[in-house]
Amino acid sequence: MARYTDSVCRLCRAERTRLFLKGERCHGAKCAITRKRNPPGKGPRSRTRKLSNYGLQLREKQKLKRIYGMLERQFRNVFAKADRMGGKTGDNLISLLEARLDNVVFRMRFASSRSQARQFVSHGHILVNGKRVTIPSYTVRENDTISIAERSKRMVIIKEALKEFTRSGVSPWLDVDPDSLSGTVRAIPRRSDVTDIADVNEQLVVELYSR
Ligand code: SF4
Repeated sequence: MARYTDSVCRLCRAERTRLFLKGERCHGAKCAITRKRNPPGKGPRSRTRKLSNYGLQLREKQKLKRIYGMLERQFRNVFAKADRMGGKTGDNLISLLEARLDNVVFRMRFASSRSQARQFVSHGHILVNGKRVTIPSYTVRENDTISIAERSKRMVIIKEALKEFTRSGVSPWLDVDPDSLSGTVRAIPRRSDVTDIADVNEQLVVELYSR
């Protein structure tokens, strides 16, 4: 499947905001957003022009897609599902994105970024309720148990990622036991539980797809 392979910092620069695409490593001093203020490329000043409504909606959609590392078609499918659920489509969209297995692995601090979490899932390191699941977009449910496969428990890269658990803990909708390398989904998060993407306006995405 096609996947973006260029520097992810360029994506943040294109959106002119920190999307934290490298996960915990983004908190270091070398964030490209603080070092380079302009969007990537040799584009003219027109890149700084005021955006139309459509442009704003498009940018918000791109931000969300990039944060969760998704391609257009996958994102569109999740949006369609959110729309069918009833209630506020924007809120449903965020809940569905958060319930992706790769995101939950990242949120449980078993991986230091969503892209690393995606790799762990597709390489078979992750179990859901004791069974191996290799689909990063798998939707977890309330009370699901997520754990690291026995053969993968000694991976240094997972132990390194877990240091963040000691520093900051996990989101309140998750329980994690760092000793057994497993965790439980206490509840699927609501929009208000997801505070670290606060500057994304998902309502603009709803407007974009409703055109
Ligand atoms: Fe974005 Fe992180 Fe790169 Fe900063 S360091 S530009 S937040 S990916």
